[in-house]
Amino acid sequence: MTAYDYRQDFPLLRENKTVYIDNAATAQRPDCVLEAEKHFYETANANPLRGFYPLSLAATEQYEEARKTVQKFIHAKSSKEIIFTRNTTESLNLVAYSYGLSNLREGDEIVVSIMEHHSNLLPWQMVARQTGAVLKFLECTQEGTLPDEVLEAAITEKTKLVAVAQVSNVLGCVNPVEKIVKLAHEKGAVVVVDAAQSAPHMPVDVTALDVDFLAFSGHKLMGPMGIGVLYGKEELLEKMPPFLTGGEMISSVTREGATYAKLPHKFEAGTVNAAGAAGLAAAIRYVEKIGFDTIMAKEEALTKRAMERLKKVPHLHILGDEAPENHTGIVAFTIEGVHPHDVSEILSSDGIDVRAGHHCAQPLLEYLGVHNATRASFMFYNTPEEVNAFVESTAQIRRRMG
Ligand code: PLP
Repeated sequence: MTAYDYRQDFPLLRENKTVYIDNAATAQRPDCVLEAEKHFYETANANPLRGFYPLSLAATEQYEEARKTVQKFIHAKSSKEIIFTRNTTESLNLVAYSYGLSNLREGDEIVVSIMEHHSNLLPWQMVARQTGAVLKFLECTQEGTLPDEVLEAAITEKTKLVAVAQVSNVLGCVNPVEKIVKLAHEKGAVVVVDAAQSAPHMPVDVTALDVDFLAFSGHKLMGPMGIGVLYGKEELLEKMPPFLTGGEMISSVTREGATYAKLPHKFEAGTVNAAGAAGLAAAIRYVEKIGFDTIMAKEEALTKRAMERLKKVPHLHILGDEAPENHTGIVAFTIEGVHPHDVSEILSSDGIDVRAGHHCAQPLLEYLGVHNATRASFMFYNTPEEVNAFVESTAQIRRRMG
């Protein structure tokens, strides 16, 4: 029996022969996601959570069903703990502006890892600036490991918040979130997890991990752009002030002030992206149908193939761990004497789409002493033939540069 070609599920991949290996930036969307968004507009298009007529109720139902799908996907205890946002960046800013500004004080410490995406760094820089808290960095090894001693030395009685990516968008390594949570909770600190690069590639269980907040984006999980998720523990979200204010997040308003709506709507000001939420729910169902066992096995095999072959290319250096299983489908590399923008342009001329630059992780690249890199990132729908084409083209780059 021949293996199912998942590319068949994706209109862009069916129509377009491009080798799309920039999945860590955004994934492709399968038919079922596009259909779910269209279905919302065709069958339930009205402003959700507002009207009492059937269309609006249908819109609300699809939106709230999507919330339950997300809740089950990440094993949250209650759907009140699922806030729909635009993306990971907005989710993390919500925590920073709402929790960070109201709970941190001068002299408190915020701990972040050196490998954070700017989205999980700039919000904490802002909190530190505005509250007088001190920002401390967890430095990893060249392979991307965060050693126990580093964690134990950095997380202290002064720590009030630890913000860490579950998977680095450059090194692809999986960070020891369970250990970090345990250490942080012992010291009374909360933990914010950036799951932008983990949620699409591995099971995420917020209850088992006992994280306080966790953020991810729909678009990296094959859902629509413009829909993201913030998970927060109910008891924390209850006490937090709203991030954005305006319509839909209130229970009543007077000339002087307002009482806010209950969770989760307190954090969802203005008209929500209900069609996006329906699309995200379809993406989650699609992932669940394939199963993370299959997804992880396929992505690891593609990564292994790419790394084994790239290692044979002279003057090419892969960032991060030696072992493909510690890369979550992400292979960032440098080629001596060639700027990553040239690498990506040459690959593009061969129909191969990769990302080049600082990957919104400038402190990490500076720390690793590389400044810029090219990144290939695989998804289960990529094929071994695509990996071969990518490596063959990459191997010729120095020669083509003259
Ligand atoms: N965090 C990580 C680890 C990422 O890789 C990204 C996107 O590349 C983000 C946050 C930001 O995601 P978004 O642009 O969807 O907000």
